[in-house]
Amino acid sequence: MLRPLAFAAAALIPAAALAQTDSDATYLRAARLLDVEAGAYVDDVLVEVADGRIVSVGPAPTSLPAGTVDLGDRTVLPGLIDVHTHLGDNSWLPAEQYDPWTLTPAAFGIAGTVNARATLHAGFTTVRNVSEPYFTGIALRDAIAGGWIEGPRMFVSGPMITITGGHGAWGNWMAPQFDRSGLDHAVADGEDEVRRTVREHIRASVDLIKVAATGGFGTTGTVPGAASFTEAELRAAVDEARKRGLHVAAHAHGEEGILNAIAAGAHSIEHATMMGPEGIAAARAAGTWLVMDLLAAHYDLIEVDQDYSDKELEGDNADVYRDYEGVFRAAYDAGARMAFGTDAGVVPHGRNAEQFALMVAAGMSPADAVRSATIRAAELLGIEDEAGHLRPGARADLVAVRGDPLADPGVLTGIDFVMQGGRVVRRP
Ligand SMILES: [Zn+2]
Repeated sequence: MLRPLAFAAAALIPAAALAQTDSDATYLRAARLLDVEAGAYVDDVLVEVADGRIVSVGPAPTSLPAGTVDLGDRTVLPGLIDVHTHLGDNSWLPAEQYDPWTLTPAAFGIAGTVNARATLHAGFTTVRNVSEPYFTGIALRDAIAGGWIEGPRMFVSGPMITITGGHGAWGNWMAPQFDRSGLDHAVADGEDEVRRTVREHIRASVDLIKVAATGGFGTTGTVPGAASFTEAELRAAVDEARKRGLHVAAHAHGEEGILNAIAAGAHSIEHATMMGPEGIAAARAAGTWLVMDLLAAHYDLIEVDQDYSDKELEGDNADVYRDYEGVFRAAYDAGARMAFGTDAGVVPHGRNAEQFALMVAAGMSPADAVRSATIRAAELLGIEDEAGHLRPGARADLVAVRGDPLADPGVLTGIDFVMQGGRVVRRP
Protein backbone atom coordinates (compact mmCIF):
# COMPACT_ATOMS: atom_id res chain seq x y z
CA MET A 1 0.00 0.00 0.00
CA LEU A 2 2.43 2.66 -1.17
CA ARG A 3 1.53 6.30 -1.33
CA PRO A 4 2.07 7.09 -5.01
CA LEU A 5 3.47 10.59 -4.52
CA ALA A 6 5.58 10.17 -1.41
CA PHE A 7 8.75 9.15 -3.19
CA ALA A 8 8.03 10.27 -6.74
CA ALA A 9 11.21 12.31 -6.44
CA ALA A 10 13.16 9.04 -6.50
CA ALA A 11 13.04 9.26 -10.29
CA LEU A 12 15.12 12.43 -10.08
CA ILE A 13 17.97 10.72 -8.26
CA PRO A 14 20.52 9.53 -10.81
CA ALA A 15 20.49 5.75 -10.37
CA ALA A 16 21.64 6.25 -6.76
CA ALA A 17 24.09 3.97 -4.98
CA LEU A 18 22.11 0.95 -5.99
CA ALA A 19 23.68 0.84 -9.44
CA GLN A 20 26.94 -0.30 -7.86
CA THR A 21 25.75 -3.90 -7.92
CA ASP A 22 24.78 -5.76 -11.05
CA SER A 23 21.11 -5.95 -11.87
CA ASP A 24 21.25 -8.31 -14.83
CA ALA A 25 22.21 -11.65 -13.30
CA THR A 26 19.97 -14.01 -15.19
CA TYR A 27 21.22 -17.44 -14.15
CA LEU A 28 22.37 -18.85 -10.82
CA ARG A 29 23.93 -22.26 -10.34
CA ALA A 30 24.23 -23.91 -6.95
CA ALA A 31 25.14 -27.35 -5.62
CA ARG A 32 21.75 -27.60 -3.93
CA LEU A 33 18.39 -25.88 -3.70
CA LEU A 34 16.34 -26.19 -0.51
CA ASP A 35 12.69 -26.98 -1.17
CA VAL A 36 11.44 -25.67 2.16
CA GLU A 37 7.93 -27.10 1.89
CA ALA A 38 9.21 -30.63 1.19
CA GLY A 39 12.12 -30.21 3.60
CA ALA A 40 14.43 -31.70 0.97
CA TYR A 41 17.27 -30.71 -1.33
CA VAL A 42 17.36 -30.67 -5.10
CA ASP A 43 20.92 -31.24 -6.30
CA ASP A 44 22.89 -29.19 -8.80
CA VAL A 45 20.35 -26.62 -9.97
CA LEU A 46 20.19 -23.76 -12.42
CA VAL A 47 17.79 -20.94 -11.50
CA GLU A 48 16.72 -18.57 -14.26
CA VAL A 49 15.65 -15.06 -13.29
CA ALA A 50 14.07 -12.31 -15.37
CA ASP A 51 12.23 -9.09 -14.52
CA GLY A 52 12.67 -9.71 -10.81
CA ARG A 53 10.95 -13.11 -10.89
CA ILE A 54 12.03 -16.72 -11.03
CA VAL A 55 11.43 -18.07 -14.52
CA SER A 56 12.57 -21.66 -14.08
CA VAL A 57 14.36 -24.02 -11.73
CA GLY A 58 15.96 -27.10 -13.25
CA PRO A 59 19.05 -29.31 -13.42
CA ALA A 60 22.24 -27.42 -14.27
CA PRO A 61 23.57 -28.31 -17.74
CA THR A 62 27.23 -29.30 -18.13
CA SER A 63 27.94 -26.12 -19.99
CA LEU A 64 26.45 -23.13 -18.14
CA PRO A 65 24.85 -20.19 -19.98
CA ALA A 66 27.10 -17.13 -20.33
CA GLY A 67 27.03 -14.84 -17.30
CA THR A 68 25.82 -17.50 -14.86
CA VAL A 69 26.60 -16.68 -11.24
CA ASP A 70 28.13 -19.92 -9.98
CA LEU A 71 27.51 -20.29 -6.25
CA GLY A 72 29.73 -23.38 -6.06
CA ASP A 73 28.99 -25.76 -3.21
CA ARG A 74 26.42 -23.45 -1.62
CA THR A 75 22.80 -24.19 -0.92
CA VAL A 76 20.30 -21.72 -2.34
CA LEU A 77 17.04 -21.07 -0.47
CA PRO A 78 14.29 -18.45 -0.40
CA GLY A 79 15.13 -15.00 0.99
CA LEU A 80 14.37 -15.03 4.72
CA ILE A 81 11.49 -13.16 6.34
CA ASP A 82 11.45 -11.67 9.86
CA VAL A 83 7.91 -10.71 10.90
CA HIS A 84 8.90 -8.74 14.01
CA THR A 85 11.46 -5.98 13.53
CA HIS A 86 11.92 -2.34 14.55
CA LEU A 87 14.36 -1.11 11.89
CA GLY A 88 14.23 2.50 13.04
CA ASP A 89 14.96 1.56 16.61
CA ASN A 90 18.27 0.91 18.39
CA SER A 91 16.99 0.22 21.87
CA TRP A 92 19.53 -2.61 22.20
CA LEU A 93 22.08 0.15 22.89
CA PRO A 94 22.70 1.01 26.54
CA ALA A 95 20.57 3.89 27.82
CA GLU A 96 23.50 6.31 27.94
CA GLN A 97 24.06 5.80 24.21
CA TYR A 98 20.44 5.68 23.14
CA ASP A 99 18.04 8.13 24.74
CA PRO A 100 14.94 8.59 22.58
CA TRP A 101 14.19 11.80 24.50
CA THR A 102 17.19 13.46 22.87
CA LEU A 103 16.59 12.17 19.33
CA THR A 104 14.81 13.99 16.53
CA PRO A 105 12.66 12.08 14.03
CA ALA A 106 15.52 12.32 11.53
CA ALA A 107 17.76 10.30 13.86
CA PHE A 108 15.35 7.38 13.76
CA GLY A 109 15.33 7.57 9.97
CA ILE A 110 19.13 7.59 9.76
CA ALA A 111 19.34 4.62 12.14
CA GLY A 112 16.74 2.86 10.03
CA THR A 113 18.77 3.38 6.86
CA VAL A 114 21.79 1.65 8.40
CA ASN A 115 19.71 -1.10 10.02
CA ALA A 116 17.73 -1.84 6.85
CA ARG A 117 20.96 -2.54 4.95
CA ALA A 118 22.34 -4.75 7.74
CA THR A 119 19.11 -6.76 7.76
CA LEU A 120 19.06 -7.27 4.00
CA HIS A 121 22.73 -8.26 3.89
CA ALA A 122 22.05 -10.86 6.60
CA GLY A 123 19.68 -12.55 4.14
CA PHE A 124 16.34 -11.10 5.25
CA THR A 125 14.73 -9.83 2.07
CA THR A 126 11.34 -9.07 3.67
CA VAL A 127 10.32 -7.85 7.12
CA ARG A 128 7.18 -6.93 8.98
CA ASN A 129 8.13 -3.85 10.98
CA VAL A 130 5.96 -3.47 14.05
CA SER A 131 6.36 0.02 15.49
CA GLU A 132 8.84 2.68 16.32
CA PRO A 133 8.36 6.42 16.94
CA TYR A 134 7.29 8.95 14.33
CA PHE A 135 6.04 6.54 11.64
CA THR A 136 9.69 5.86 10.75
CA GLY A 137 8.82 2.50 9.19
CA ILE A 138 6.63 4.13 6.56
CA ALA A 139 9.44 6.44 5.46
CA LEU A 140 11.86 3.49 5.32
CA ARG A 141 9.41 1.27 3.41
CA ASP A 142 8.83 3.94 0.79
CA ALA A 143 12.52 4.86 0.50
CA ILE A 144 13.42 1.20 -0.09
CA ALA A 145 10.57 0.66 -2.55
CA GLY A 146 11.55 3.87 -4.35
CA GLY A 147 15.16 2.75 -4.76
CA TRP A 148 16.68 5.44 -2.49
CA ILE A 149 18.29 3.00 -0.09
CA GLU A 150 18.98 -0.72 0.27
CA GLY A 151 16.76 -2.69 2.60
CA PRO A 152 14.25 -5.50 2.89
CA ARG A 153 10.79 -5.21 1.45
CA MET A 154 8.79 -3.85 4.37
CA PHE A 155 5.28 -4.27 5.71
CA VAL A 156 4.85 -1.66 8.43
CA SER A 157 2.67 -0.56 11.29
CA GLY A 158 2.57 2.87 12.88
CA PRO A 159 3.70 3.36 16.47
CA MET A 160 2.21 0.71 18.75
CA ILE A 161 -1.24 1.75 19.97
CA THR A 162 -1.35 1.55 23.75
CA ILE A 163 -3.28 2.68 26.83
CA THR A 164 -2.39 5.70 28.96
CA GLY A 165 0.58 4.59 31.04
CA GLY A 166 0.90 1.43 28.94
CA HIS A 167 3.79 -0.36 27.24
CA GLY A 168 5.29 1.85 24.56
CA ALA A 169 3.80 5.08 25.96
CA TRP A 170 6.32 7.86 26.42
CA GLY A 171 7.29 9.34 29.75
CA ASN A 172 5.35 7.09 32.11
CA TRP A 173 7.60 8.37 34.92
CA MET A 174 6.64 12.01 34.34
CA ALA A 175 4.23 13.91 36.57
CA PRO A 176 0.68 14.19 35.25
CA GLN A 177 0.95 17.92 34.43
CA PHE A 178 3.27 17.18 31.51
CA ASP A 179 1.47 16.77 28.20
CA ARG A 180 3.03 13.95 26.22
CA SER A 181 0.41 13.84 23.48
CA GLY A 182 2.77 15.25 20.85
CA LEU A 183 5.13 12.31 21.22
CA ASP A 184 2.95 9.27 21.34
CA HIS A 185 0.64 9.37 18.29
CA ALA A 186 -0.63 6.13 19.68
CA VAL A 187 -2.12 6.45 23.15
CA ALA A 188 -5.82 5.64 23.10
CA ASP A 189 -8.35 4.90 25.83
CA GLY A 190 -11.82 3.61 25.09
CA GLU A 191 -13.25 2.18 21.90
CA ASP A 192 -13.80 5.57 20.23
CA GLU A 193 -10.21 6.70 20.75
CA VAL A 194 -8.92 3.34 19.56
CA ARG A 195 -10.98 3.64 16.36
CA ARG A 196 -9.79 7.21 15.82
CA THR A 197 -6.14 6.21 16.29
CA VAL A 198 -6.45 3.24 13.93
CA ARG A 199 -7.96 5.61 11.36
CA GLU A 200 -5.04 8.03 11.80
CA HIS A 201 -2.60 5.20 11.17
CA ILE A 202 -4.51 4.09 8.07
CA ARG A 203 -4.43 7.69 6.85
CA ALA A 204 -0.64 7.53 7.29
CA SER A 205 -0.65 4.46 4.95
CA VAL A 206 0.28 1.66 7.34
CA ASP A 207 0.10 -1.97 6.19
CA LEU A 208 -1.01 -3.31 9.58
CA ILE A 209 -1.98 -2.14 13.05
CA LYS A 210 0.10 -2.86 16.15
CA VAL A 211 -1.47 -2.77 19.60
CA ALA A 212 -0.17 -3.49 23.11
CA ALA A 213 -2.53 -5.92 24.84
CA THR A 214 -0.32 -6.18 27.96
CA GLY A 215 2.49 -4.34 29.68
CA GLY A 216 6.06 -4.90 28.57
CA PHE A 217 9.66 -5.38 29.58
CA GLY A 218 10.98 -2.21 28.00
CA THR A 219 8.70 0.46 29.45
CA THR A 220 8.90 2.02 32.91
CA GLY A 221 5.89 1.43 35.10
CA THR A 222 4.35 -1.50 33.23
CA VAL A 223 4.51 -5.21 34.00
CA PRO A 224 4.52 -7.85 31.25
CA GLY A 225 1.91 -10.07 32.87
CA ALA A 226 -0.78 -7.40 33.19
CA ALA A 227 -3.50 -6.94 30.56
CA SER A 228 -3.97 -3.42 29.18
CA PHE A 229 -6.71 -2.83 26.58
CA THR A 230 -10.08 -4.45 27.24
CA GLU A 231 -11.33 -7.07 24.83
CA ALA A 232 -13.87 -4.49 23.58
CA GLU A 233 -11.12 -1.96 22.83
CA LEU A 234 -9.11 -4.60 20.97
CA ARG A 235 -12.22 -5.63 19.06
CA ALA A 236 -12.68 -1.99 17.99
CA ALA A 237 -9.10 -1.96 16.63
CA VAL A 238 -9.61 -5.23 14.74
CA ASP A 239 -12.94 -4.05 13.30
CA GLU A 240 -11.59 -0.69 12.18
CA ALA A 241 -8.55 -2.34 10.55
CA ARG A 242 -10.69 -5.02 8.89
CA LYS A 243 -12.67 -2.42 6.94
CA ARG A 244 -9.45 -1.63 5.07
CA GLY A 245 -8.30 -5.22 4.80
CA LEU A 246 -5.61 -4.80 7.44
CA HIS A 247 -4.62 -7.13 10.26
CA VAL A 248 -3.86 -6.37 13.90
CA ALA A 249 -0.67 -7.62 15.55
CA ALA A 250 -0.98 -7.72 19.33
CA HIS A 251 1.98 -7.41 21.68
CA ALA A 252 1.05 -9.68 24.61
CA HIS A 253 3.11 -11.37 27.34
CA GLY A 254 0.52 -12.34 29.98
CA GLU A 255 -2.28 -14.86 29.54
CA GLU A 256 -5.21 -12.47 30.18
CA GLY A 257 -4.05 -10.06 27.46
CA ILE A 258 -3.30 -12.96 25.10
CA LEU A 259 -6.83 -14.32 25.54
CA ASN A 260 -8.34 -10.82 25.08
CA ALA A 261 -6.42 -10.32 21.84
CA ILE A 262 -7.30 -13.75 20.41
CA ALA A 263 -10.98 -13.32 21.32
CA ALA A 264 -10.95 -9.88 19.66
CA GLY A 265 -9.62 -11.35 16.40
CA ALA A 266 -5.98 -10.31 16.44
CA HIS A 267 -4.04 -11.84 13.53
CA SER A 268 -0.88 -12.51 15.55
CA ILE A 269 0.30 -12.59 19.14
CA GLU A 270 3.77 -11.10 19.55
CA HIS A 271 6.01 -12.59 22.30
CA ALA A 272 3.41 -14.82 24.09
CA THR A 273 5.99 -15.09 26.86
CA MET A 274 3.72 -16.37 29.64
CA MET A 275 1.13 -18.09 27.48
CA GLY A 276 -0.56 -21.02 29.18
CA PRO A 277 -2.49 -24.06 27.90
CA GLU A 278 -5.67 -21.98 27.56
CA GLY A 279 -3.91 -19.41 25.38
CA ILE A 280 -2.31 -22.09 23.21
CA ALA A 281 -5.68 -23.82 22.74
CA ALA A 282 -7.38 -20.50 21.89
CA ALA A 283 -4.66 -19.62 19.36
CA ARG A 284 -4.96 -23.05 17.75
CA ALA A 285 -8.75 -22.84 17.55
CA ALA A 286 -8.72 -19.33 16.05
CA GLY A 287 -5.71 -19.91 13.79
CA THR A 288 -3.93 -16.98 15.42
CA TRP A 289 -0.23 -16.71 14.53
CA LEU A 290 2.33 -16.83 17.32
CA VAL A 291 5.50 -14.79 16.87
CA MET A 292 7.81 -15.85 19.67
CA ASP A 293 11.02 -13.82 19.75
CA LEU A 294 13.43 -16.21 21.43
CA LEU A 295 16.36 -14.14 20.17
CA ALA A 296 15.29 -10.93 21.92
CA ALA A 297 14.41 -12.84 25.07
CA HIS A 298 17.79 -14.60 25.06
CA TYR A 299 19.60 -11.34 24.37
CA ASP A 300 17.88 -9.40 27.14
CA LEU A 301 17.57 -12.11 29.77
CA ILE A 302 20.78 -14.11 29.26
CA GLU A 303 23.30 -12.19 27.14
CA VAL A 304 22.77 -8.73 28.68
CA ASP A 305 21.09 -9.96 31.90
CA GLN A 306 18.94 -6.83 32.15
CA ASP A 307 17.64 -5.76 35.53
CA TYR A 308 13.93 -6.62 35.46
CA SER A 309 13.44 -6.52 39.21
CA ASP A 310 10.49 -4.13 38.79
CA LYS A 311 8.61 -6.47 36.42
CA GLU A 312 6.89 -8.82 38.88
CA LEU A 313 8.49 -11.87 37.26
CA GLU A 314 8.75 -15.24 38.97
CA GLY A 315 12.35 -16.36 39.38
CA ASP A 316 15.51 -14.87 37.93
CA ASN A 317 16.20 -14.06 34.28
CA ALA A 318 17.44 -17.58 33.52
CA ASP A 319 14.19 -19.01 34.91
CA VAL A 320 12.12 -16.64 32.79
CA TYR A 321 14.01 -17.68 29.65
CA ARG A 322 13.72 -21.39 30.47
CA ASP A 323 9.97 -20.95 31.02
CA TYR A 324 9.70 -19.14 27.67
CA GLU A 325 11.45 -22.04 25.91
CA GLY A 326 8.87 -24.31 27.56
CA VAL A 327 5.99 -22.20 26.21
CA PHE A 328 7.59 -22.25 22.76
CA ARG A 329 7.88 -26.04 22.85
CA ALA A 330 4.32 -26.48 24.13
CA ALA A 331 2.91 -24.23 21.38
CA TYR A 332 4.95 -26.08 18.74
CA ASP A 333 3.94 -29.52 20.01
CA ALA A 334 0.28 -28.41 20.03
CA GLY A 335 0.54 -27.50 16.35
CA ALA A 336 0.03 -23.74 16.71
CA ARG A 337 0.83 -21.54 13.70
CA MET A 338 4.26 -20.05 14.31
CA ALA A 339 6.24 -17.53 12.28
CA PHE A 340 9.78 -16.25 12.69
CA GLY A 341 10.14 -12.88 14.42
CA THR A 342 13.14 -11.68 16.40
CA ASP A 343 12.27 -8.22 17.78
CA ALA A 344 15.42 -6.88 16.08
CA GLY A 345 15.93 -3.43 17.55
CA VAL A 346 15.88 -4.95 21.01
CA VAL A 347 18.68 -7.11 19.55
CA PRO A 348 21.34 -5.56 17.26
CA HIS A 349 20.12 -5.57 13.66
CA GLY A 350 21.59 -8.20 11.34
CA ARG A 351 21.80 -10.90 14.01
CA ASN A 352 18.30 -12.18 13.10
CA ALA A 353 19.46 -15.62 11.90
CA GLU A 354 20.88 -16.42 15.33
CA GLN A 355 17.32 -17.23 16.35
CA PHE A 356 17.26 -20.46 14.29
CA ALA A 357 19.58 -22.25 16.72
CA LEU A 358 17.48 -21.05 19.68
CA MET A 359 14.31 -22.40 18.07
CA VAL A 360 15.90 -25.80 17.50
CA ALA A 361 17.24 -25.82 21.07
CA ALA A 362 13.68 -25.12 22.26
CA GLY A 363 12.35 -28.18 20.42
CA MET A 364 11.42 -27.13 16.87
CA SER A 365 12.65 -29.32 14.02
CA PRO A 366 15.30 -27.67 11.82
CA ALA A 367 13.01 -27.91 8.77
CA ASP A 368 10.16 -26.18 10.62
CA ALA A 369 12.54 -23.49 11.87
CA VAL A 370 13.48 -22.72 8.24
CA ARG A 371 9.81 -22.88 7.20
CA SER A 372 8.88 -20.40 9.94
CA ALA A 373 11.11 -17.77 8.27
CA THR A 374 10.07 -18.60 4.71
CA ILE A 375 6.75 -20.13 3.69
CA ARG A 376 5.06 -19.71 7.11
CA ALA A 377 6.12 -16.06 7.42
CA ALA A 378 4.91 -15.47 3.85
CA GLU A 379 1.53 -16.95 4.83
CA LEU A 380 1.31 -14.63 7.83
CA LEU A 381 1.93 -11.69 5.47
CA GLY A 382 -0.46 -13.04 2.82
CA ILE A 383 2.30 -13.12 0.17
CA GLU A 384 2.72 -16.92 -0.07
CA ASP A 385 1.96 -16.85 -3.80
CA GLU A 386 5.21 -15.00 -4.48
CA ALA A 387 7.51 -15.38 -1.48
CA GLY A 388 8.83 -18.02 0.90
CA HIS A 389 9.60 -20.54 -1.85
CA LEU A 390 11.56 -20.71 -5.12
CA ARG A 391 8.98 -21.77 -7.68
CA PRO A 392 8.59 -20.19 -11.13
CA GLY A 393 6.64 -16.94 -10.80
CA ALA A 394 7.94 -16.16 -7.29
CA ARG A 395 9.87 -12.99 -6.62
CA ALA A 396 13.57 -13.56 -7.17
CA ASP A 397 14.39 -13.12 -3.48
CA LEU A 398 16.94 -15.76 -2.62
CA VAL A 399 20.02 -16.35 -0.54
CA ALA A 400 22.87 -18.85 -0.52
CA VAL A 401 24.95 -20.33 2.25
CA ARG A 402 27.56 -23.01 2.87
CA GLY A 403 26.58 -25.92 5.08
CA ASP A 404 23.43 -27.93 5.64
CA PRO A 405 20.51 -25.79 6.92
CA LEU A 406 18.28 -28.87 7.24
CA ALA A 407 20.72 -30.45 9.67
CA ASP A 408 21.64 -27.19 11.39
CA PRO A 409 19.77 -23.98 10.47
CA GLY A 410 22.33 -22.17 12.63
CA VAL A 411 24.51 -22.08 9.48
CA LEU A 412 22.12 -19.40 8.15
CA THR A 413 24.12 -16.85 10.16
CA GLY A 414 26.73 -17.37 7.43
CA ILE A 415 24.66 -16.29 4.41
CA ASP A 416 27.07 -14.65 1.96
CA PHE A 417 24.93 -14.28 -1.18
CA VAL A 418 21.71 -12.27 -1.33
CA MET A 419 19.51 -11.55 -4.34
CA GLN A 420 16.48 -9.32 -3.91
CA GLY A 421 13.95 -8.85 -6.69
CA GLY A 422 16.47 -10.24 -9.19
CA ARG A 423 19.23 -7.84 -8.12
CA VAL A 424 22.38 -9.18 -6.47
CA VAL A 425 22.86 -7.14 -3.31
CA ARG A 426 25.57 -9.27 -1.72
CA ARG A 427 27.99 -11.77 -3.24
CA PRO A 428 30.72 -13.92 -1.71
ZN1 LIG B 1 8.89 -5.54 19.31
